[in-house]
Parts: sequence; structure tokens; C-alpha cells
Amino acid sequence: MYHHSASTSQPAAGSATGVLDAAPADSKDAILFQRCAWCGTAMYHRLLCPVCQGSELRTERSEGTGTVRHSTVVHRNTPAARNVSLIEMTEGFVVRGRVMGPPVGIHSGDRVRLSTAKDPVRGEPVFQLTDEPYRAWT
Ligand SMILES: [Zn+2]
Repeated sequence: MYHHSASTSQPAAGSATGVLDAAPADSKDAILFQRCAWCGTAMYHRLLCPVCQGSELRTERSEGTGTVRHSTVVHRNTPAARNVSLIEMTEGFVVRGRVMGPPVGIHSGDRVRLSTAKDPVRGEPVFQLTDEPYRAWT
């Protein structure tokens, strides 16, 4: 068990309890999606449910894991080849984004985990490959 000794010896000024619990640590690095209140279908950036055409959608937050469904290497308008992948998230909706790593190394069925919700250049989600077995992150 490793400890930072500094944090234990200093008396906290006005002990603020509960602050750490309340902080949404990585909320800016999460993908928000919509779920239909009528049929429960999960979707991404839609105004109407693709299944039942319902317009009553709730916003939920993805846990950030998914599976590569399709991956394409793009050489156009970019200094280096990059991949554009469709990621089917655990919640059941599909997101278009980029998977880090060599473009030819991304295959359908690979497990990925969200790395950055919005790429600063393109504003698209960036994923990283996980070679962990299923459920390793839960
Ligand atoms: Zn629906």
C-alpha cells in the first residue's frame, strides 16, 4: 500500500467533507446519448427515435466502452493516414470516431474504450483499443 505522506501530516483547513464525492471527475470526457422514452432504443445525435419515431428522448451518459463495427483508413485531407471507425457502444448506439493506434491494426470486433470525448481538432470521439477480456473495465 503506497501513501503520499504529505496529505496525512497537514491539517486540512476547514475540513470539507463530501467534496470529492460530488465532483463529476470526467464528465467532459463522456459521450452523451439519447434513449427513447417510449421503446428504450439508444441513439446518438438524433431528434427522433429511428425505431418508433418517438420524440421523447432522455439524455444518458455512456460508460465509454464499445466494439468496432467497421473501420476505414482515410488518406484524404490529412497529413497521415487515420482511421474512421464505427463503434457500437455497450448501450447499443453507434458512434463514428477514431481509434488510436496503427490504422491497419483496427478490426471489426475489437474492444475499445473511450479516450477523449471530443478530439480538439475534429471534435470527434477518440477511442483506444483494449485487449482486456470482456467486462474487464466494470
Ligand atoms: Zn422509440
